[in-house]
Amino acid sequence: MVTEPLLRTVDLLGEQWMLLILQSVFLRVRRYDDIRVRLGISPTALSSRLAEAVRVGVLERVPYQSVNRVRHEYRLTEHGLALWQLLISMWTWERDWAVDRRIMLPDLVHIDCGQSTAAPLGCRDCGQRVWLSAVRAQRREPLLFFPAPAGVFAARTTPGWPPTRCFSSPPPWNCSAIAGPSACWPGLSLARGTFPNSSATSASSRVCFGGRLARLVELGVMRTAAATTRADARAYDLTAKGRAFFPTLAFIADWSRTRYPDTPPALTLTHRGHRFVPALLCHHCHTLLQRSRVHPH
Ligand SMILES: [Zn+2]
Ligand SMILES: [Zn+2]
Repeated sequence: MVTEPLLRTVDLLGEQWMLLILQSVFLRVRRYDDIRVRLGISPTALSSRLAEAVRVGVLERVPYQSVNRVRHEYRLTEHGLALWQLLISMWTWERDWAVDRRIMLPDLVHIDCGQSTAAPLGCRDCGQRVWLSAVRAQRREPLLFFPAPAGVFAARTTPGWPPTRCFSSPPPWNCSAIAGPSACWPGLSLARGTFPNSSATSASSRVCFGGRLARLVELGVMRTAAATTRADARAYDLTAKGRAFFPTLAFIADWSRTRYPDTPPALTLTHRGHRFVPALLCHHCHTLLQRSRVHPH
């Protein structure tokens, strides 16, 4: 049982069926049979995802009267509704970077200005457009296993972590291929480094982490070159495709912080000296987007 909030969130949303089910409910397809038909998902797979979404507290079962019996539909809870920016950031990334996505992604229209917007990342506090380079991150053990912290990162490695979380076969959705199986991806998104390095990690976690890095390179999220420090190591760095995933990471970190407020956040982001609370901007009128003021088109 994963208890770390950030990993819990990645576990929940790094799964393609869960993302598609939540997208359906956001698009007001709320009833079991309607979701099943829309997605072409098996009853077993759908039932287990819905049960998990209810257990985690992002969906709730609400009774309604069918022809001759009471049935249930699924509604987003407050925590579920709060996922809207995170999901939009994922879909934005999909639209821009995933050439083999399975589903058509709706445009997002900002009601206030009437324009279709790309919804770039902004800072809720100062209202500025935000790029990865303007955000500082502090990480807390034992979440982020990254062997070569660089720059502002003071994290230490955690020997033996993750013990079992090696790659499974990648799902077809690019987004979940990155966010899901590589649960340590948040560390990668904010750092560059070499691997293996001199950290005392177990052989199994090295194999696991090495495979994870190789998969990220294969996905075009990271690039690698021979390291200058050690003959047997490789240097890793994010590509533009990898950096573009930063908004999704920021929303994952923010949502997990508010969903699980009793656990200190594993990842604290800072923008211009204040805590960074991510938000979406309209790239036409440059105002922060509100959930009630956008609609898919
Ligand atoms: Zn700011
Ligand atoms: Zn606008």
